[in-house]
Amino acid sequence: MSDSRSGGLGSPASRNQPGTLRIGTLAGVDVFVRTSWLLIAVLIAYLMAPAVERVEPGLGALKYVAGVAFAILLTLSLLLHEISHALMARRFGIPAHSITLHFIGGVTAIEGEPQTPKQEAAISGIGPVTSLAIGLTALLVLEVTPDGLLSLVVGGLAWANIVVGVLNLVPGLPLDGGHVLRSVLWKATGNPHRATTIAGWAGRGVAVLALASPLLLDAFGLRATVVDFLVAAVLGWFLWSSASAAIVSGKLRARLPALRARTLARRALSVPPELPLAEALRRAQQEQAGALVTVDGAGRPVGLVNESAVAATPAERRPWVPTSVVARSLTTGPGLVLAADLEGESLLRQMRSTPSSEYLLVEPDGTLYGVLVTSDVDAAFSRSA
Ligand SMILES: [Zn+2]
Repeated sequence: MSDSRSGGLGSPASRNQPGTLRIGTLAGVDVFVRTSWLLIAVLIAYLMAPAVERVEPGLGALKYVAGVAFAILLTLSLLLHEISHALMARRFGIPAHSITLHFIGGVTAIEGEPQTPKQEAAISGIGPVTSLAIGLTALLVLEVTPDGLLSLVVGGLAWANIVVGVLNLVPGLPLDGGHVLRSVLWKATGNPHRATTIAGWAGRGVAVLALASPLLLDAFGLRATVVDFLVAAVLGWFLWSSASAAIVSGKLRARLPALRARTLARRALSVPPELPLAEALRRAQQEQAGALVTVDGAGRPVGLVNESAVAATPAERRPWVPTSVVARSLTTGPGLVLAADLEGESLLRQMRSTPSSEYLLVEPDGTLYGVLVTSDVDAAFSRSA
């Protein structure tokens, strides 16, 4: 019964993923269910059956219907937990695009990142608060519910939601409590990336505890079964890999702000497209320009010279080849022209949307600033490690 949120770089679009069913939209957010959750729901219905038989004997096969009804109500209460994350994010202007329920909880995919520690705390904290509120409400309803099938269902919902609420408050990523911890560390250190890394390490600690939990049962004099070890292994592995992913992303993002298109740019020399390549290269060397741009009669950039295409042209042919032959036409992709002021995550996002080995950098007024070479960005990124 764990739960996590994802957002920003590489958040999973659940659309068209095998094993995922779209069950509809809730408050404008697409809701998906993984088949792994359906299996758990069937398992819950099956495990519930003996208890149903006890409180309402003689139901026959109908006892499974009661189990399925309970599983559906439980799914709906998990959905309320997830939608509370989505609605809180939306309050801060961060749209949520999907909710996916999977084998031990759900994921709410939000577009982008919380901008302040306060937003992070509110968006993640609201989930466990919602589950605890549902659980406590169910407990109150249980007080006035007559014994029987209904009280079994209400009691089960109360118990399950309180467990979900409490477990999600455990302070380690990817749990909601881990996001709350991250917000506190972010506030304290002023560094959101270091906060992610530390909260990720806390998450690894939680994973180890989950893995060792059957041994703790033993310490309390309870006999741990094979199933307990199996559940602990699955849960521990899931938490460990998610926490590790958080640590990696924290480290990567910490390096991003150092990436500025303007400072990484090469000075570009403008040449007419029909100029022989050998002459263009000679002029570039003379002017100490690191890149070549072909321009039309009016001086507007029309092509970006590709370094590997130049390297692939034998030296003896270069006097006879027009520069335009080794240039990538700018008219084929508007994504090849980037603002010189781009930096960090937005720079990488733009580059990823139109993969190329070179980009033209322009000033806000459209004048040519220089050329950004992808291998220079890669080198700067690994240098700042
Ligand atoms: Zn949550």
